[in-house]
Amino acid sequence: MIDVEDLIALVRNYNPRTNADLLRRAYAYGAQMHDGQIRKSGEPYFTHPVAVAAILTEQRLDDATIVTALLHDTIEDTKSTYSEIERQFGHEVAELVDGVTKLTNLQLSSAQTQQAENFRKLFMAMSKDLRVILVKLADRLHNMRTIKSMAPEKQAQKARETMEIFAPLAGRMGMQWMREELEDLAFKVINPEARNSIIRRFLVLQREAGDVVHQISSDIRNELDKTGVDADVFGRAKKPYSIWRKMQEKDLAFSSLSDIYGFRIICRTVADCYAILGVIHQRWYAVPGRFKDYISQPKTNGYRSIHTTVSGRDGKRVEVQVRTREMHEVAEAGVAAHWAYREGKRIANPFAVDPAKWVNQLTERFDEGDNDEFLEHVKLEMYSDQVFCFTPKGEVIQLPRGATPLDYAYAIHTRIGNSCVSAKIDGIRVPLWTRLKNGQSVEIITAEGQTPQASWIDIVTTGRAKAAIRRSLREEDRGRFVKLGHELARAAFDHVGRKATDKALRTAAKMLGLADEQDLLARLGSAELTARKVLETLYPELTFNQAEEVDAKRPIIGLSGDQALKRAQCCQPVPGERIVGITYPGRGVIVHAIDCPALEEFEEQPNRWIDLYWQSGRHPAVYTVSLDVAISNERGVLGRICTLIGDQKANISDLKFTERKPDYYRLMIEVDLRDVEHLHMVMTALEAETDVAQVARVRNVARKP
Ligand code: MN
Repeated sequence: MIDVEDLIALVRNYNPRTNADLLRRAYAYGAQMHDGQIRKSGEPYFTHPVAVAAILTEQRLDDATIVTALLHDTIEDTKSTYSEIERQFGHEVAELVDGVTKLTNLQLSSAQTQQAENFRKLFMAMSKDLRVILVKLADRLHNMRTIKSMAPEKQAQKARETMEIFAPLAGRMGMQWMREELEDLAFKVINPEARNSIIRRFLVLQREAGDVVHQISSDIRNELDKTGVDADVFGRAKKPYSIWRKMQEKDLAFSSLSDIYGFRIICRTVADCYAILGVIHQRWYAVPGRFKDYISQPKTNGYRSIHTTVSGRDGKRVEVQVRTREMHEVAEAGVAAHWAYREGKRIANPFAVDPAKWVNQLTERFDEGDNDEFLEHVKLEMYSDQVFCFTPKGEVIQLPRGATPLDYAYAIHTRIGNSCVSAKIDGIRVPLWTRLKNGQSVEIITAEGQTPQASWIDIVTTGRAKAAIRRSLREEDRGRFVKLGHELARAAFDHVGRKATDKALRTAAKMLGLADEQDLLARLGSAELTARKVLETLYPELTFNQAEEVDAKRPIIGLSGDQALKRAQCCQPVPGERIVGITYPGRGVIVHAIDCPALEEFEEQPNRWIDLYWQSGRHPAVYTVSLDVAISNERGVLGRICTLIGDQKANISDLKFTERKPDYYRLMIEVDLRDVEHLHMVMTALEAETDVAQVARVRNVARKP
């Protein structure tokens, strides 16, 4: 195990001003906390955090990150706590250790390949600070390097996670070496036969051709020496996994792979890069189509290099990369290059991409943020506008921040959303408006017959859920409108002595250019279309005396000249509705709607009944109807309701509160109307208002006639 002074020496190499005392305290604290714990390999547990810290010194990271590595398993595996670490090592370290712990606690075992991208996003979303990911990656690298001592099933699972989540994550962070090593370690577990066969091919190749890497390296060095350019040449055989992947992707046999060897020339200046390129192309044949100049055209992640492939006289092709030392640093350290130390100072590499831009590129967001502040805090803001939750099967669902279990339900399936009755988060039942947090597992409880509630619109945040809820509510409305339209059509047709048969309605629909009779009824019910328009279309021979106002004093046919007339207050009939009269000798006639229950008491007295009909034509708006209206208790709603009714040319003759609850008011509104169609238009206008929860005509209330 690396002892504390060796570790401090590793840090001093790149950061002479390191706080050695802090490192000593963290080392001692970690050793004490993990004391007595043993790794599967039989070594003391603390060898692991120390090895992780050592990996991070290779990336030349700051003291807080190295300390975090030493403490990264304490909260999870020992009696240490967040507040204890905060007390001893400060807020920054406590936050970092807490971040690593949260990632460790994620249940990744059920990760499916197509879900890997979401897992990577979840990781980034849960890491408020990029250094948390750097520590987690180093942690995984060490665990993979020592995976041999784990149980076989555990090995397979860790290797899969590494291949699907951690290796691409390292690549995303721009750390190519880490990506390659993680892939190769995982490959060794997942497909050892394939890996061994590739290694065997290398051995055969080596027997046949000798040490190719060494030969070509010294050839290149000789050419460079002739020109006097100062540069280092590195050659290597590519990792078995990257060869395997190329073979699979391009469906090539090993012998036809051209890029099994790679050479890197690291020099001082950009001018040297181009000079070296000239030397290489003069000495060997450049393979057409393989030259790329990422120095004049850097990649968005800051990668700069010249790539070319050349072939020798024997036809063997090798890839050559030429870059300066700073460029190389960015290519290897990736985003970490930005705050790596060199010669004791944190001088930003001129080629390193600003981490804020890096994050933008990762998240495909290009909004202009305050980049300086970002650098100050080394904060990771990616995916901060999103949350990631688990399904019971372990899939990750991505949602916008502020999303609720209802959004989650709709994200899974519209059917699940529509029939949602309640939700459990991490096994505990929660209200549907609960805001979801990263890493929570969510279970939706559904019930047959449940339908979306209008109030759900305010609970959900995703467009998908909102659209689905609206659609469902609209369909429900449509059902109601069709029913209302039917009643309306029946009354209007009766009024002119016709029958509203399906055939008549279908014909009218066709003549009006509507889809079918259902469409016509829905439009009638929603007051988009008037019954008169339907009748005029079907029966142009009928004359509608639109201009002729019905005499307010004689609105009803069927009364003898001197009979006084009164509308029954129990049913409040309006023109367009079928009516009947009950005579009160000496006092006149009370007009009831034909279906009024109050008529029951006159069943035994047929002589008191008289047939009555409304006059055809336009009635004045004098027939009072009571409406029961529930509205939300929001500023301005009552005013809007009154305006709406006024807009329909209806007059409010009375208005009183029948119930006042904190969240809604209930009103009884008396409206003066012309006829049943007019009533209908007023009710529809009210129903369309979002702040109106309910509208109902009040009939058959126990009232004296
Ligand atoms: Mn660990």
